Amino acid sequence: MTDVRSELGLGDGLGGGAARHPSELHSAEQDSVKHHPAERADTDALIRGRASVGDFEITVLTDGFFYLDGGAMFGVIPKPLWRKRAPADAENHILLGTNTVVMRDGKRTIVIETGIGDKLSEKLRNIYAAKALLPAAFEAAGIAPESVDMVINSHLHFDHSGWNTRRDGAGKLTATFPNARYFAQRGEVEDGRRQRERDGVSYMADNYEPLVASGQMTLLDGAAEIAPGIRVELFPGHTPQLQAIHIESGGEHACYISDLIPTSAHLDLTWGMGYDLDPLTVIEQRKRFYAHAIPEQWLVLFTHDHHTPFGHVEWNERGRPVLRAANVK
Ligand SMILES: [Zn+2]
Repeated sequence: MTDVRSELGLGDGLGGGAARHPSELHSAEQDSVKHHPAERADTDALIRGRASVGDFEITVLTDGFFYLDGGAMFGVIPKPLWRKRAPADAENHILLGTNTVVMRDGKRTIVIETGIGDKLSEKLRNIYAAKALLPAAFEAAGIAPESVDMVINSHLHFDHSGWNTRRDGAGKLTATFPNARYFAQRGEVEDGRRQRERDGVSYMADNYEPLVASGQMTLLDGAAEIAPGIRVELFPGHTPQLQAIHIESGGEHACYISDLIPTSAHLDLTWGMGYDLDPLTVIEQRKRFYAHAIPEQWLVLFTHDHHTPFGHVEWNERGRPVLRAANVK
């Protein structure tokens, strides 16, 4: 069991519900500000949720929500089906989160994922409506980047490793978490260097090459224990070496499954992303994940779900994986 009492919809001004953004409700000049149909009253909150897993206190921070094409996010699933779970705007964009997880047990501060960052070209920044809020989110949570001991990237796509580095006043790339050891899979760095036609655009060398060169990033070859209670395991499909992060303490278990299941709207076995490099493997790996995550009641942490950053999954009466009712927002 995992304690989620205080997190989903309670405390921290995280109240959910279907209310529209408050600024839509008044002021003529604000009428000109467009809001995405998926926005809610709490959409701008920098702290997306809190939970505890045994000795670990878990805080979910955001680099800000961003937009991707809804069709690309749901692969072969027709829009009349996916739009019920993920409303699209006139451009067919759906709203996605960039969830960074901070785990603290009083001994260590460990970070999973670092958002999109602030190094995108202006053109890309506009395409994704990237907001670069992660430093503000750390500040809101009272967590100093200097206090972070470890940073784990599930893979090295630009929307998962953006704040690994930043430019200092002189324009030089430096580690955003100066005292942290970074961890990523060696195969991710190698795929980034390959710059293949299919996925080369997803890798931005500035997010990891400086850390590889300086020795601050440890390159892993498959499963590994990162710290007591924290280990990584490969769940291929989205990329061949995507790693999930397990958090185990006091008999409780949480798992950051990353882009194998990017949001709670993607739980069905076949609801993969157009971005997945190997859709058949995604299905098999989801089965393997649910075979443990459901009976063992893992807390599932979603990398791109802005409004439901985590929840427990169960089988419904039709044998489909769904979010446990108490977790639905
Ligand atoms: Zn992603």
